[in-house]
Amino acid sequence: MRPHTARALQKARRHGTEALRAAATKETQRVARDEDTEDDSQSASLNLPEVPLAAMNLPPLRGSHESLVRQNERAEADGLLRVKDEEDLATLRHEGKLVALPELASMHVDSRLPANRRYCRAWTGHFLTDLARVHYERFHKPLQINSAVRTIQYQRHLLHINGNAAPAEGDVASPHLTGEAVDIAKKGLTPSEVAWMRAYLLPLQTAGKIDVEEEFQQSCFHISVYKSYVTSRPQETPSRKPALLASGVN
Ligand SMILES: [Zn+2]
Repeated sequence: MRPHTARALQKARRHGTEALRAAATKETQRVARDEDTEDDSQSASLNLPEVPLAAMNLPPLRGSHESLVRQNERAEADGLLRVKDEEDLATLRHEGKLVALPELASMHVDSRLPANRRYCRAWTGHFLTDLARVHYERFHKPLQINSAVRTIQYQRHLLHINGNAAPAEGDVASPHLTGEAVDIAKKGLTPSEVAWMRAYLLPLQTAGKIDVEEEFQQSCFHISVYKSYVTSRPQETPSRKPALLASGVN
């Protein structure tokens, strides 16, 4: 064997080992995350950190005055107006500006939520579909949505019966009024699911795609999702479109 051929062979072996090591590292990370890499590119789970999630033990993602102001500012930047009343709500649904909450095996809606408020913005729906899918893959149980879009009319009623409810107007009005926000129930979640949720949501909040407030009185994750969430998300394939609720919902 000529010397330069031997060198080339040695080099190839060395590279082969490096490639193997890289593959092994990738596999270890995949197992650590306990999720399927098959279609990772299709999911917001790309934002998940490469460490076992339950071990992170993040503190609650608490709300604040600043967060509420920001949620209102971001909704305005997304070009959204607050939904006035039932008629306004019907118009927005008819125009397709509000879409039905995704109906999935991995996510259900609180049966007490009236049919005409089971709607949200399209990008909020995409976020919910992504979250429900990776949560289900990890824990094999569904999440529950407690609240989605609300009207100013309803928020005023809510304020009347619950003094702690967010205002219906002003710079700290309830983010539910634009249809960008949803509440996901904490009831029924194990401590490791709560830890997982925080680890899933925090990177998205840091990236400015969402804002999260953990509510303790109603025990939920309140999440405002912004239009920019979909721009960071790969092209939609037909099979991944959230299934709409049966027609006849009004
Ligand atoms: Zn909320």
